[in-house]
Amino acid sequence: MLQHLELYSGIGGMRIGVRAALPPNIQHTVCSIDINRTANHVYNYNFEDCARSKSIEHCTLRDIDIGQQRWQGEQAFLLWTLSPPCQPYTTTSNSKQQDIQDDRASSFSHLLRLLPQMPCPPTHLLLENVPAFYGSRSYQHWRKVLLDLGYHMFDVALCPSQLGMPHRRPRHYTLARLLRNRPGSEFSAAAIEKLQQLSHATAGAQHGCMAGFQAQQLQQYLVLNWSQYSQPLQHCDPEVQQQVQRYALPTDRVARYYKVLDIVTPQSKQSNCFTKGYQKSILGCGSYLMEGAAAQQLCEQDSRGRWHFTQDPYQQSSADESSATNNSNQLAMELPASCENAAVEAGRHRLECQQAPAMRIRAFTPREVANLQGFPASFSFPADVTDRQAYALLGNSVSIDAVTYLAKLLLEDVIASV
Ligand code: SAH
Repeated sequence: MLQHLELYSGIGGMRIGVRAALPPNIQHTVCSIDINRTANHVYNYNFEDCARSKSIEHCTLRDIDIGQQRWQGEQAFLLWTLSPPCQPYTTTSNSKQQDIQDDRASSFSHLLRLLPQMPCPPTHLLLENVPAFYGSRSYQHWRKVLLDLGYHMFDVALCPSQLGMPHRRPRHYTLARLLRNRPGSEFSAAAIEKLQQLSHATAGAQHGCMAGFQAQQLQQYLVLNWSQYSQPLQHCDPEVQQQVQRYALPTDRVARYYKVLDIVTPQSKQSNCFTKGYQKSILGCGSYLMEGAAAQQLCEQDSRGRWHFTQDPYQQSSADESSATNNSNQLAMELPASCENAAVEAGRHRLECQQAPAMRIRAFTPREVANLQGFPASFSFPADVTDRQAYALLGNSVSIDAVTYLAKLLLEDVIASV
């Protein structure tokens, strides 16, 4: 039996990844804690046992000491998974990197104070965070507490692209097993070898597939297919028109950012990490998709498989507007950012109506992002959760494939116990 305390549970990525690592005959009971209401709403919608809505810095020893009475006398294991907030460590342009001084790191520091006081500390620990967590002062505190308590720990970097997923989400993971008073609980030589291959020293530049995995294309993770709609938008079904309104990038934004847009096609074998601001801000928050012939016509692929515009889409804009509107197969990116007058707006609106969905650049839908992060088909968002909320929750979550891969190594003694 595996008891699992899922701290910072979000939408439950850790529990899904851990469950997938376990054979069906191992009982897996989960308690989870998170402070975010929307995350807990999604969690409760998907899992029978509800997430506890509580701030971790206010948890007492009793709150986190799950099931200790229940496992007296039987062989039971206790796993903690933790994804503490990453903002104190992220290296994005406007982050302050205040590390342990950041208020958002205080709940993690609190847990590190409670852990040594536990009568039955967890037998297994799995922590996930951004790569910059490794080496931070919070990390040093974490490492000291674990080593003092008699854990054997591995710090690794893993990206789902190394497991063949067409998605990049490099993250730091710590795997730790309690060895003190637990004879025979050491990691096996085979597990140690695999974990050493992922150690930070060697993993830095590795995003290619590891031996035994094959790089896959994006198309099998997609739900929408706009390549089949080459007629002008106003001749498409209302359902397709709605999809376009919801997910297509407005042409003026494309015109403004075309040089730096991160574009992939269904044949690409990669996409970039979707962060919680996806679609709110279109730069640096994840990839966008071109499905039809447009990518081949207007872009070229570099040696790393990324697509770039070969021509300035503004040049098309200087062409006569009526000829552009008459040509439904032309990507309409004719609006200089500065032209905001009503006539231009109206022209843009006409062009957007004319433009075929097959020629549009679009966002991945939340379901497609979930697919790329390895969420199973059984996972879903309640109808009252907006796209923005779903992107934010997925952006905070984990790669299920990476968690499962590591959980199999971390929990091999649990798996072998049945
Ligand atoms: N692994 C999770 C997401 C972790 S993101 C998943 O699969 O979805 C970090 C989470 O920590 C967020 O959901 C956030 O709401 C939660 N959190 C942040 N500070 C917290 C605190 N002090 N107490 C409880 N939860 C907290």
